[in-house]
Amino acid sequence: MIRHSLKRRTLFGAGAAALAAPGLLAGIANAQENAENGALTKDSAFKTFKVGTFKVTVISDGTRASENPHETYGTNQPADAVSALLDQNFLPTSGFINGFSPVLVDTGSHVVLFDTGLGEAGRETGTGKLAEGIRAAGYGPEQVSVVVITHMHGDHIGGLMEGGKPAFPSARYVTGQMEFDFWKDGARVGTPAENGHKAVLQKVVPLAEKTTFIADGAEVVPGITAIAAFGHSPGHMIYRLESEGKALILTADTANHYVLSLQRPDWEVRFDMDKAAAGATRRKVFDMIATDRLPFIGYHMPFPAVGFVERQDQGYRFVPVTYQFDI
Ligand SMILES: [Zn+2]
Repeated sequence: MIRHSLKRRTLFGAGAAALAAPGLLAGIANAQENAENGALTKDSAFKTFKVGTFKVTVISDGTRASENPHETYGTNQPADAVSALLDQNFLPTSGFINGFSPVLVDTGSHVVLFDTGLGEAGRETGTGKLAEGIRAAGYGPEQVSVVVITHMHGDHIGGLMEGGKPAFPSARYVTGQMEFDFWKDGARVGTPAENGHKAVLQKVVPLAEKTTFIADGAEVVPGITAIAAFGHSPGHMIYRLESEGKALILTADTANHYVLSLQRPDWEVRFDMDKAAAGATRRKVFDMIATDRLPFIGYHMPFPAVGFVERQDQGYRFVPVTYQFDI
């Protein structure tokens, strides 16, 4: 059993902020204090920064600990190779922690939410915190005007509905046509995708009338463009934000572990539905991000899930954001 998240909560809890030297924990504050740039408390965590005139807020839906990394990452590699790479990167080999980070982008005209976390299904295990995080960041769920779903795995669509009603009552929705068609199809019954199909019938299909179904290159709102990034799921899409000459890529689940998926992009991942296509997409997307030296937000990168990548001989090194957006 991994207790890392518990330790982190204790360390960074509201009490710890008072003990720290002024400025040392800047951006970490009690939710009630409604900190300007971010908060990390027992109940909510968010990080806000600007991309041009867009105000971008990454919100933690929570984290989940799992055992046996090799059963998820590098499944076509010897277990020793996975352990060696983790060890080399100062990570434990017995387990791993996955975070879930939906993103709110306030363009000034639209408040666009990317993905919705695990929702009600996650509450018992410490996730499903998106709505709390949105409030802590100074917004209300009713202020979200557009919800974009990058793909329809449960950790992305779980928060669409709350108590059988839309969790974002004023929103319209945007998602990939291919993704929706795949999961909605009754042909998924009796396949490994059956549970996903049922979840889509419950969470996504009731919202279909308010949904715009898009393809590669579509504009969501001015400055936000969809890019096809298939493989992790059949219609997985990523998004480019651009404002006043500044850009950022929302890579969603193109890479799911900041070491194992980025340093070894060709290693197979259990959650990638088309493993070869997912590997090829990882290379294409992170080659572009490395070449253009762009910041990106990866849904499963360590919170606040924002960083850069440096090209290495076999893959890419994740360079977490520090103060790049604060100056
Ligand atoms: Zn995911």
